Amino acid sequence: MKTNLINDFLQTPEGIEADKILRSCVHCGFCNATCPTYQLLGDELDGPRGRIYLIKQTLEGKTPSRQTQLHLDRCLTCRNCESTCPSGVNYSQLLNIGRSEINKRVSRSLYQQFLHFSLRKLFLSRFLFSLLLSVGRLFKPLLPSSLQQSIPEKQGKISFQKKPHARKVLLISGCVQPDLKPNIDTAAKIVLDRLNIECIEPPSAGCCGSLSHHLNAEDEAFKIIKTNIDHWYPLVANEQIEAICMTASGCGVAIKEYEQLLKSDGEYAEKAKTISTLYKDPAEIVSAEIKNNKQTSISQLIKDDSSNKNIAFHPPCTLQHGMKLNNLIEPILSDCGFEVKSFKDKHLCCGSAGTYSITQKALSQQLLANKLGHIEKVGTDMIVTANIGCQLHLQSGTDTQVKHWLELLV
Ligand code: SF4
Ligand code: SF4
Repeated sequence: MKTNLINDFLQTPEGIEADKILRSCVHCGFCNATCPTYQLLGDELDGPRGRIYLIKQTLEGKTPSRQTQLHLDRCLTCRNCESTCPSGVNYSQLLNIGRSEINKRVSRSLYQQFLHFSLRKLFLSRFLFSLLLSVGRLFKPLLPSSLQQSIPEKQGKISFQKKPHARKVLLISGCVQPDLKPNIDTAAKIVLDRLNIECIEPPSAGCCGSLSHHLNAEDEAFKIIKTNIDHWYPLVANEQIEAICMTASGCGVAIKEYEQLLKSDGEYAEKAKTISTLYKDPAEIVSAEIKNNKQTSISQLIKDDSSNKNIAFHPPCTLQHGMKLNNLIEPILSDCGFEVKSFKDKHLCCGSAGTYSITQKALSQQLLANKLGHIEKVGTDMIVTANIGCQLHLQSGTDTQVKHWLELLV
């Protein structure tokens, strides 16, 4: 596609990047076929091709409106369009640049400003989040049923006795998962321990930065990312860590993007590259172990192979489109004795998408209903996924139990 970006902007790293991405798009529209918001709304401007065009117009000097901002806000950042695009357009990177430029020029309503601010304060403070969760659990019976479903019961913690191993990974716990579902990280430690891999945890861990990034607080996001790098880099350098991993694929994909986000930062570019390169989803580690030593690894992996449940595995977008890790977890679960049922539109987003389920509730609920409808049609005992956001979102709409895949193995 031909471009004519504003000259001053074209001299910046973002301008050069945006121009390169825009020129790679041939405007064929194949991406619209797999875009969840285009499928729901049927408006070209709520599909990837239309959004690319809106960003192009803005970067070429056209004044964006609140409507332009809304079309971009409605994007789930699921990156399904990237999986479909035959020209390899880096849509998410262009969206980051476009959103940032449009948000500089279009003010948000007071309600939106308040909502974004509150979400950031709530999710970035472990203390505040824990407190609110405890209060929510206490008064759960008095809350409306839709809200009750969103508050998970307190998990009875599973125990794990750490053992030293020569092979080590850095396991990052994240911001809200330790309070909501502490057993997921413990399950990761148990499973990796069975594979003779030790999990090292950094002394302080919080948000990966994606929350602030997606709520348009870019300075805050960069500050969080740099603080994380400051904490993790010395451990990586000193402890002979072979990989960095997280059990939430939504946070994992954010760490994978550190390299791209900081590539123009003289002080952090190299460190960010090291961190992103080292990042691996737990499924990559487990899958590689099975491949290398199939019989031993599977018997090591699962405590009790008598399980024979029908399960449906929902692959989070961050795993299948963001990190391009497809069909890794299903074979592991099959090998461990689970019957993994396939269902329609597995490639589509469930509507969770970080804070999207709060900021774009109607669209999010529609996607949730579609996803659960397809899963319920095949009849399963349990729904399984790989990201805490998807897990809680799916659970909010069904009585069928939703679990993280690693929890199934312990
Ligand atoms: S992003 Fe890819 S699929 Fe979509 S219009 Fe551009 S080239 Fe075609
Ligand atoms: S990221 Fe997802 S919602 Fe956004 S344009 Fe691409 S396919 Fe559509």
